[in-house]
Amino acid sequence: MPKLQVIIGMEVHVELKTKSKMFCACKNDPDRSAPNSNVCEICLAHPGTLPVPNKTAIEWAAKIAKALNCRINTNSKFDRKHYFYPDLPKAYQISQYDQPIGEHGYMNLEFLPGKNIRDTAKIGVTRVHLEEDTAKSTHSSSNTTLVDFNRAGVPLVEIVSEPDIASAAEAKAYCQELQMIFRYLGVSDADMEKGHMRCEVNISLQEEGKFTNNNGVITPVAGYTLNHKVEVKNINSFRAVEKAIEFEIQRQTAMIENGESWKQQTRGWDENSGGTVMQREKETAADYRYFPEPDIPPFHPEVIAGDLNLPELPQAKRARFRDEYGFSYADAEILSSDLAWSKFTEQVMSELAHWLHDFKAERNDAYVSKQLAHLAGGWITSKLMGAMAERKIDIRVLKLKPENFAELVALIYANKLNSTNAQKILNEMLDSGVDMDPTHIMEEKGYGQISDEGKLSEVVEEIIKNYPKQVEQFKAGKEPILQFLKGMVMKATEGSADPVVAEKLLREKMK
Ligand SMILES: [Zn+2]
Repeated sequence: MPKLQVIIGMEVHVELKTKSKMFCACKNDPDRSAPNSNVCEICLAHPGTLPVPNKTAIEWAAKIAKALNCRINTNSKFDRKHYFYPDLPKAYQISQYDQPIGEHGYMNLEFLPGKNIRDTAKIGVTRVHLEEDTAKSTHSSSNTTLVDFNRAGVPLVEIVSEPDIASAAEAKAYCQELQMIFRYLGVSDADMEKGHMRCEVNISLQEEGKFTNNNGVITPVAGYTLNHKVEVKNINSFRAVEKAIEFEIQRQTAMIENGESWKQQTRGWDENSGGTVMQREKETAADYRYFPEPDIPPFHPEVIAGDLNLPELPQAKRARFRDEYGFSYADAEILSSDLAWSKFTEQVMSELAHWLHDFKAERNDAYVSKQLAHLAGGWITSKLMGAMAERKIDIRVLKLKPENFAELVALIYANKLNSTNAQKILNEMLDSGVDMDPTHIMEEKGYGQISDEGKLSEVVEEIIKNYPKQVEQFKAGKEPILQFLKGMVMKATEGSADPVVAEKLLREKMK
């Protein structure tokens, strides 16, 4: 059996969260409004109505295109894409055919150790175009279908990739990066479960070495017939993107091994069975009978979008988090995955920079900032995120201010607080529901680390008295026993003793 190679392309749709719909003044709020409340003659497709394009939607589509390194076209237009379905009363969708907003872009996937992503993975972005969403049909069990037109005419951007994706893991990473870009740009919440973002996969398996991929055009070598591609729809989570691709790889491999062929087709992902099911054999583009929308004049995205100043994008932020703060790859990825978290992190790090002044007397700046970044990164990604998840607190409603969290980290760094007591303080800060000063809690509850030699001496002497056998062993050269004695000092002080001072005193008093 020849070795098979998987070829994957993606079509991603994202709903823009503009105030109004794409071609009318109706409120764009399909999630929260009562069914069929945000409708008018235009989005219900009454005869004789005229669509008027939403300028913000065009600007935002151009932003997405630019973030994906596309060329923003000078000339663009809308086209009618014809098909019949109850959620489309016009019997055509206003979309874009041959002159999209942007073309010829790409996304570099970030290589991460342990994930099945090539370190040179560059995914071509064929086009970014703007269209209108359809109404939403809900099929009930009693053989009836309900149609909600609140979603009809919501601005929708489609991003078509080249068939450059080589694994399920890469497809998932590509979709996740897109979601982050949409959120960073502030153009969509891109929540897959709510249908703000929908992914479709085009997948085929071909014999290795029997085809070429020239800028997205797959050409067979002489004598080889390409296997048809299969389109998989109805995917509503990143995990499902991965699972649907893995399923198709197995299904198509088995067919090839059995000498079977298949027609180009559309299949649906079925979460319950964990497989894809045949929906229909695919129409070709000609079936949609595209033609220019006569009611909307051609337009110039380049002019409408003007100077597009994009915010720092996720990849750049991750790189900066690593370079500027010294975060690990893993911490940088977690801390930049959500804008609210990345903002919180930056504020914490900026506060910690002030504390650096107090610490750098002993060591050099670079050493201290690396240690602090390591400590802060760990405390945010594991301790804080963990404690918030337990309490179901979202970062957007967190009362704890970055200044006070930074102070907590600084207290740990300065050995004024051990991690057990720091965790207790963190829990109190979160449970209080208000912003609290960690130093204040530490002093009030007596959580502070005992570094004072006078105070600790008494405890150390008590331990030495209580464990004569162990002290003899240490004196006879059994060094590891010191850890046991130190543990006893920690226990006697309920974890508050400064371990460094405790060890120093133990050594002195056992000489
Ligand atoms: Zn309307």
